Amino acid sequence: MSGFQKYKECPECSGTGRVECEVAVADFGAWRGGELRLVSVDCENCDGTGSVVDDGFDDENWEDFDPMVAAHGY
Ligand SMILES: [Zn+2]
Repeated sequence: MSGFQKYKECPECSGTGRVECEVAVADFGAWRGGELRLVSVDCENCDGTGSVVDDGFDDENWEDFDPMVAAHGY
């Protein structure tokens, strides 16, 4: 069946669609001038969907990855 796309759990966010990242928050009232705050944002890898198209290159399959094939597009 051609055109069928497999999806797999996004490795970046473990399928949650959200990732936590540290952002610097300017706080002029604080004597240190700000702080790092942990915020939850949409995962860029999967656009917040929690799943990505399975391109066949799983983390476990990197041994099969051929850079020459990738460079020439098959
Ligand atoms: Zn993700």
